[in-house]
Amino acid sequence: MDQSAIKGSRRSNPATYTGMLEPIRKAFAKANGVKPALFSANSEGACPSCKGSGVIVTELGFMDTVETPCEDCGGKRFQAGVLEYKLAGRDITEVFDMPVVEAREFFAGGEAKIPAVVKILERLSDVGLGYLTLGQPLSTLSAESGNG
Ligand SMILES: [Zn+2]
Repeated sequence: MDQSAIKGSRRSNPATYTGMLEPIRKAFAKANGVKPALFSANSEGACPSCKGSGVIVTELGFMDTVETPCEDCGGKRFQAGVLEYKLAGRDITEVFDMPVVEAREFFAGGEAKIPAVVKILERLSDVGLGYLTLGQPLSTLSAESGNG
């Protein structure tokens, strides 16, 4: 395990690299009686228009491209049907929009109770990352580390 593996992937974010994503997906699947793969924007749940990237890349010319938010999913990366599935009243994109501190409460009890996820979230807030949202890309993280 080295850091380059984490930095190398554009899709890496706190939820994936700390292993929270899998138990969260499974909880959604269980609560709704469907497959966990639906809750992955890299897999079956992906918006067909933008292939789960949330943006449409248009080539303007030789070198120029412009990225616009995908209109079909509104930049949420998931196909519309997936957002009908809720866990404790939230859909998967709402969960990934939660800051770590809020998600900690969310997964602490009730229908969304996942003790393993709470443990990871506690660790993240302990090291001062409680402001991050679960889906925040790692690339925005590395910008932060330069500040003393
Ligand atoms: Zn889309």
